[in-house]
Amino acid sequence: MKRITFIGLGVMGFPMAGHLQQAGFDMTVYNRTTAKAQQWVSQYGGQFAETPAEASRNADLVLCCVGNDDDLRQVTVGEDGAFASLKPGTLFIDHTTASAEVARELSAMLKQQGCEFLDAPVSGGQQGAENAALTIMVGGSEEAFAKAIPVLDVMAKAVNLMGPVGSGQLCKMVNQICIAGLLQGLSEGLNFAKRAGLDAHKVVEVISQGAAQSWQMENRHKTMLAGEYEHGFAVDWMRKDLDIVLTEARNNGTSLPVTALVDQYYADVQAMGGGRWDTSSLMARMEALSGKD
Ligand code: NAP
Repeated sequence: MKRITFIGLGVMGFPMAGHLQQAGFDMTVYNRTTAKAQQWVSQYGGQFAETPAEASRNADLVLCCVGNDDDLRQVTVGEDGAFASLKPGTLFIDHTTASAEVARELSAMLKQQGCEFLDAPVSGGQQGAENAALTIMVGGSEEAFAKAIPVLDVMAKAVNLMGPVGSGQLCKMVNQICIAGLLQGLSEGLNFAKRAGLDAHKVVEVISQGAAQSWQMENRHKTMLAGEYEHGFAVDWMRKDLDIVLTEARNNGTSLPVTALVDQYYADVQAMGGGRWDTSSLMARMEALSGKD
């Protein structure tokens, strides 16, 4: 696993690939907007290529972190996509938050080429990527996972195999389901506290000692109360993820009434101009409904 290619140097991919270069791997990067690849090389070293196919030609391992299913298909099986140039035995790991379906589809294609696929979506956000403290949820074979561990460990604080291909994405869906409902509850609670004339900071100080405590409460209540929503994962991305979740739920017959509702609340936030606000901006919607801005 010496020669590694990284496709997609966005908010997440840029620092993730950087950690691998710093760990001593021989890195080749590809980014659609070449200027970002040039910037990466001048910051970390390594080399960049003009297409995913060129970038992946001599790789032992290819990692990818792009936006959604369509972007993933584009860089793998689209024109000049990575799959065209993979040598047999190459492992392809996808960090995009995408559907379990596209993971299974790409895995089946790679199998025909004598290559392997792992879906490996992440949580931990920009901060987790920059601090090499991501949680990575992996789907695929145990053999492929064992090969991937030394590389994934460089970027993560936790790496877990969840089951066959697609299971990493399914686990990430559970993560998003749990966050959506929780953030709406937190927004309602904080907005209620303010409207009731309580000192909302003091309320959090008290109730966070008990069963209402959560990561979101601890890390987001101050900014939510201040109306600041620039702390990471954007509403536009969340809606993309919830669309994946709700499609999967329709296919497997799961009822997700709260998640579906919160998805519509996020549509309201987008209509308020908050597509790039972070996911705790459900609070802004609550305040707008209460006649405050
Ligand atoms: P981002 O900053 O928007 O970066 C997206 C990357 O994908 C860019 O390098 C972009 O290239 C590339 N890309 C998009 N469409 C492409 C296409 N059709 N062909 C080639 N390249 C394409 O996104 P991000 O925040 O890094 O997120 C990446 C993935 O991680 C998403 O699936 C997201 O849901 C997931 N994620 C993000 C976070 C977070 O906090 N940001 C947390 C967990 C998971 P250009 O530079 O040319 O646009």
